[in-house]
Amino acid sequence: MEIQRVGVIGAGQMGNGIAHVFALAGYDVRLNDVSQEALENAVLVIGRNLDRQVRRQAITEDEKAAALARIVTTVKSEDLGDSDLIVESATEREEVKRAIFDNLIPHLSPEAILTTNTSSISITRLGAATDRPGKFMGLHFMNPVPLMQLVELIRGIATEEQTFETMKGVVARLGKTSANAEDFPAFIVNRILLPMINEAVYTLYEGVGTVDSIDTAMKLGANHPMGPLELADFIGLDTCLAIMNVLHDGLADTKYRPCPLMVKYVEAGWLGRKAGRGFYDYRGETPMPTR
Ligand code: NAD
Repeated sequence: MEIQRVGVIGAGQMGNGIAHVFALAGYDVRLNDVSQEALENAVLVIGRNLDRQVRRQAITEDEKAAALARIVTTVKSEDLGDSDLIVESATEREEVKRAIFDNLIPHLSPEAILTTNTSSISITRLGAATDRPGKFMGLHFMNPVPLMQLVELIRGIATEEQTFETMKGVVARLGKTSANAEDFPAFIVNRILLPMINEAVYTLYEGVGTVDSIDTAMKLGANHPMGPLELADFIGLDTCLAIMNVLHDGLADTKYRPCPLMVKYVEAGWLGRKAGRGFYDYRGETPMPTR
């Protein structure tokens, strides 16, 4: 199926990156959010990020202008009615996502494909609540979307082969690389990454190493570009904890139990970079380890 008009729902951190990469790849994008302020902010952020690509000579001024001209914002979800593809990237709450699909579906063509950028909600369950589980799947972008090469394609139990093949083609047209994952908690990247971060927090909790020695060890000993604790602060410790809980609940295996020290940091509101403090304190000139 030919995809040209794309409706992106949710203009937050991920939604604005998704609108950016679709518009740059030549798709007509309708970006929807319940908040007018979020839409205005998204357009500013997309403009700034495109400017950065121009400065790096990754794109030309003309390509930037054409991409911006392809993005239309709206607070009315019915304006997305003629979309060939929907990418839902709103707040990570199941009732919010269900209500979005319920409201939108009566306005859509029966051919339109529905996708969600959820990090943790079952694709099969979300798809089953729509009128088209065969045309429903997970399209999981990485943060920051314009920079990260990977998109996970997640098939629900009912996802049809044609939907999957169409979406594989879309990811290729975005200039990104897809990896296929089946619909189990946290898919592939987070299933592997978060237990590693959690283990780094256990290593700190048990006194095996300090924040500095753990991050130095993994950067220089495993060639990781960021240490696991630095990465945890970047992702946000509340998000890390939420994903560990999804793994623990969804797979019912004690190997996924969240480290009590991670829970403690979240209780303290030390959520990482966004809070100014996590495993590092970011309030001074250079980040200082908090343990
Ligand atoms: P965010 O909080 O930055 O943005 C969510 C946006 O959704 C907000 O602007 C909010 O106003 C909007 N919204 C809420 N209800 C809505 C509705 N009914 N209709 C339209 N818009 C609505 O969140 P985010 O980090 O961009 O995450 C969005 C999705 O992407 C989530 O499903 C999340 O799991 C997923 N995700 C996040 C990351 C990440 O690193 N942040 C990575 C991959 C996937």
